[in-house]
Amino acid sequence: MNRRVLLPVLLAAATNAEAQSTTIAPGDGFEVERYAVALRPDLETAAVSGTETIDVRGTSDRVTHLAFSANALRIADAMVDATPVQVSSTTDAIVFTLPQALRKGRKVTLRFRFEGTPARGLTAVAGSIYASYFACDWMVCLQDAPGDKAHLALDLFLPADAQSVGVGRASPAATSADPLVIHRWRSTRPYSPYLYAFAAGRLPRQAIATAHGELVYFDGTGSNADLAALFAEAPAITAFLANKAGMPLPDRRYAQVLVPGREAQESAGFSLIGQSELDRERDDPSSAWIIAHEMAHQWWGNLVTCATWQDFWLNEGMATFMVAAWKEHSAGDAAYRQELDVARRRVEQVRELGFDKPLAWDGEYPSLRARRAVQYSKGALFLAHLRETIGEVAFWNGLRRFTRQHARKTVTSKDFQNAMERSSGRDLSATFAEWVYGK
Ligand SMILES: [Zn+2]
Repeated sequence: MNRRVLLPVLLAAATNAEAQSTTIAPGDGFEVERYAVALRPDLETAAVSGTETIDVRGTSDRVTHLAFSANALRIADAMVDATPVQVSSTTDAIVFTLPQALRKGRKVTLRFRFEGTPARGLTAVAGSIYASYFACDWMVCLQDAPGDKAHLALDLFLPADAQSVGVGRASPAATSADPLVIHRWRSTRPYSPYLYAFAAGRLPRQAIATAHGELVYFDGTGSNADLAALFAEAPAITAFLANKAGMPLPDRRYAQVLVPGREAQESAGFSLIGQSELDRERDDPSSAWIIAHEMAHQWWGNLVTCATWQDFWLNEGMATFMVAAWKEHSAGDAAYRQELDVARRRVEQVRELGFDKPLAWDGEYPSLRARRAVQYSKGALFLAHLRETIGEVAFWNGLRRFTRQHARKTVTSKDFQNAMERSSGRDLSATFAEWVYGK
């Protein structure tokens, strides 16, 4: 996504002709190396307060403002290095005015306080709170910059009896001056901001060890769910996906947080799994997808991430395909075919409405359904087609090569094409032109 927004606030504050012509979008002219957030979430209301530090590096010369994704938080006491600076929030962006222009390659550190009730992204329920996708609603970050991977340090101030799960590893909970306990989560590798999340509060847990990493299950429903039974397939899915990725789980650990409703959202290191989705799958096991799909994102999506939303199919087509591949492995060829048939029907439904696009199409989708039909379903069908075209060995070896080579990094469709061409020894440009780029 590349939204250019004009900021009237800047125009009013501008002191020279050059600044008056400024248009600025979140992320313009800089990249983030690290976010550090000390967060006090209210487990009843999902209101938050806290402090944040952002380490930024200029990517172009004469950067005069740092813009981040808009949110509903009130921001105060903003400083750049040791200098107090102006901050303005509009519906388009949060903009910090730099005391002096930032040059390419130079670093500055932004510090500020914030408080408010996020419009999206945080849900308080049954004595716990969880974050889902919209990280830049409860902290300041770049929601639509998957290519700008950065480290996250998150200190959660929580009641003494609370559990938590976050990004990376937790150092032992520290005692703060007030009755709250600080849970310190630190990423072990950079992640895209849309994957920043946490869950905290009353979260009964179970953990089991597997050869590919520890699996932890949390119950965020308050319903005393039978976690071991609900996640019975998870160890076998972990073994299958780790084999296909050619790598163990990142951090050798993965948590699944059971929450009410139909939530299904991956984050760095854990996923939210909706209880009603699991209930539905129990009644119709042939339609199961959520555990395998969200776990697949730990490799495809989280570790290897689309550089822009244009190549989101690399995240979602892969996760959708992996559900089919897991079903083939666990239930046989007919289950694989059935899963692909579901994907085919979804593509045909939007095609009948006159909408069909190549996977890396860069336009606006008319609906979520149309976007998912292309990026999820058609993406999975393309991977199945590629598998048939280049054969079993070249396909899976190519996927392992792609995954290992680009772990921690961001990718485009071209990176995936290169990996598959090297693995198969074939020129796949015609196939990729037809399915991915459009002719
Ligand atoms: Zn997904």
